Amino acid sequence: MERFEILISAQQIASRIKEIAAELDETFKEEVPIFIGILNGSFMFMADLLREVKMDCEMDFIKLSSYRGNETSGTVRLLKDISADITGRHVVIVEDIVDSGLTIKFIKDRMMEADPASLTIVSLLHKPDVAKLDFAIDIVGFEISPEFVVGYGLDYDQKFRNFDGIYRLKEGPEDN
Ligand code: 5GP
Repeated sequence: MERFEILISAQQIASRIKEIAAELDETFKEEVPIFIGILNGSFMFMADLLREVKMDCEMDFIKLSSYRGNETSGTVRLLKDISADITGRHVVIVEDIVDSGLTIKFIKDRMMEADPASLTIVSLLHKPDVAKLDFAIDIVGFEISPEFVVGYGLDYDQKFRNFDGIYRLKEGPEDN
């Protein structure tokens, strides 16, 4: 763990998730929304958020791969689509992090094609100094500076997703 420095603790995440869940419960108290988690990064956030919400709800997952060519361009590929029909449904997108905004824009556009009753975007983390979006992220857990983070679902080279908090990678050579 020496290369990592804690940025957001498990306790901070847990209490912010309670607030987000309360907000969603209030918004959707008359509805049965469908939560759509974006794999792989949002699996832990999705599980913890859904344990906190009290409303009747459904859930599904979508899996994407994104490739960043440079600062402003990139491509997103769909690896696994949702199974549910979201036409006329209240959809809540659950994302781990919005960085450039490329992924969330792709998902928003794709979901809107299906004509949902509403679309709410929840992201645990947001890098506002990086994201170039022409729409707002409805609910953000934590705004962070433009630095690479891991843990709580987020990986570096597919590792460290299992950490219970969010860590920044320390600069400098790897130890060992
Ligand atoms: P965007 O399309 O907004 O640039 O990036 C979204 C995706 O890039 C996220 O779903 C996540 O998989 C990855 N990503 C962006 N920033 C970070 C970061 O700081 N750490 C990790 N582990 N992944 C990130």
